[in-house]
Amino acid sequence: MSYFAELRPKNVSDVVAIVQSARAQRRPLYAYSTGLNWGYGSKAPVVEGCTPVDLSGMNQIVNADKVSITNPVALIEPGVTQAQLYQFLQEKCPGLYFNVCGAASATSLIGNALDRGVGYLGPRRDDLFALEIVTGTGQVLKTGFRRLGESSPLATCHPFGLGPMLDGMFFQSNFGIVTSACFKLLPRPPVQVGVSLALRHESDLGRFIDVLAQLKRERVMGGVTHIGNKARTRSSLMYGVSNYLETQCGMTGAALEAGAAGALAIIAPNEWTSLGGIAGTGRQVRAALAEVKARTGKLARMMVVDDFRLDLGYRVLHPLRFVPWLRANAAAIAAVRPLHGLASGKPTDAPVDNLLWKFGRPDLPAPRLDESNCGMLFISPALPMDGDFVTGFIKAMTSVAREHGHELYITINIETESSMVAVTNLLFDRSVSTELDRAKRCADALYACITAHKLEVYRARADMMGSVVDPYSDYWQTVRHLKSVFDPDNIISPGRYNIAD
Ligand SMILES: Cc1cc2nc3c(=O)[nH]c(=O)nc-3n(C[C@H](O)[C@H](O)[C@H](O)COP(=O)(O)OP(=O)(O)OC[C@H]3O[C@@H](n4cnc5c(N)ncnc54)[C@H](O)[C@@H]3O)c2cc1C
Repeated sequence: MSYFAELRPKNVSDVVAIVQSARAQRRPLYAYSTGLNWGYGSKAPVVEGCTPVDLSGMNQIVNADKVSITNPVALIEPGVTQAQLYQFLQEKCPGLYFNVCGAASATSLIGNALDRGVGYLGPRRDDLFALEIVTGTGQVLKTGFRRLGESSPLATCHPFGLGPMLDGMFFQSNFGIVTSACFKLLPRPPVQVGVSLALRHESDLGRFIDVLAQLKRERVMGGVTHIGNKARTRSSLMYGVSNYLETQCGMTGAALEAGAAGALAIIAPNEWTSLGGIAGTGRQVRAALAEVKARTGKLARMMVVDDFRLDLGYRVLHPLRFVPWLRANAAAIAAVRPLHGLASGKPTDAPVDNLLWKFGRPDLPAPRLDESNCGMLFISPALPMDGDFVTGFIKAMTSVAREHGHELYITINIETESSMVAVTNLLFDRSVSTELDRAKRCADALYACITAHKLEVYRARADMMGSVVDPYSDYWQTVRHLKSVFDPDNIISPGRYNIAD
């Protein structure tokens, strides 16, 4: 790929000037918020020759002085990160929190939401409204009631506006560059607990999914319940466990490796384990936990996780770490703590640190993941809420991956009340060209398996847009027509969820 020097606008006027100049020169742009779209292409544009537009310098919480419990909306620019919003709320309004996702603290809220990323409480798409966009003609367009002007009392509170909702046009599209948007904040509930359920028999996966889906529909567990396979669960815990054994138990080398493997065998022995959240008043949470236990008790072993239990468990187990079983559980607590924080709105780098550790670069900070040899390709189908169907389909994907010598890292996310997504990735050493080729072949075969079942991915990698977008289909032709309204010269992110030309 050829690259031009990155452009770094500081405000919306800079973005307008960039777009107008690019249009005059017929030079395509590729805009990103923080560019940490790992597993989907990171900062890579879909077609060659784009000038990168790095929006990370536009990082104001524009209405900082107006955010409050009674006004739970942050008007943010694209460079605002999870860590920044978290810090801001901790200092200014700790009674509010937000839908945090498992990517690093330095990832954006707007870029993630625009690519329809998923947080622990639900799809990020639902968090964003009232966008300000610079279209491919340089027009500044405001959606919802922001069109009435920023001084309108409705500008940042009523998400729908009047007439057709244009917001949806700018998610997973290339119709414009989003320069600010409203992001929903939430009142922090008095009690928040995590619920982990370890499925006893793999053969019960379909029934397990159906029960968890019903708990979601009934809003007993209203967030996104994650059902991880063993590869995913163990890889999420591996770094935390190893780090504990190394720093707290003095293990090194082969003993450390064996100790970590042994600990994982004790704490994560099951093929499928779910993690969900319950929040509310003490009484609501107790009632919901009883309901979950009653419905899943025959299928799974339940564990409730909250800060108090984690602290207590650690205080009891850590001093007894000379006993292998107790040591394994103390290590598990150390590993689970940052992941549990996600459900209560605290961003973490732990999942990325796991990858950096696995690929021998624990020295790198999370935002520099792309400097390691970690190769990652996401290939994540959206799925119907049907346990038997999902189980059969996961088997089909696993067998395709096996034919290519790959293990799949899968989390089945119960994302909406009527559908789910199997967030699935391949991991490989990208410094070895044969490994990269093998992973790409495997990803292509998995995509063929997805489409053969008349399914689709929920989000596409930059390198697969050519397969996803069929230039001859009526649907994508219509999308192209709409694009020409906002960006007649195809200046912005050509080929991204659109016909490349
Ligand atoms: C270990 C790990 C865990 C992860 N966990 C999650 C997770 O829990 N949930 C999740 O959703 N993802 C997850 N990811 C994937 C990914 O890293 C995140 O989605 C991340 O937030 C995307 O990067 P970003 O925020 O920098 O977005 P960007 O890279 O800035 O943008 C994403 C896309 O949107 C477009 N875009 C961005 N900003 C604009 C704009 N202002 N106007 C127009 N278009 C724009 C970009 O062109 C790009 O294609 C994970 C990845 C890893 C490696």
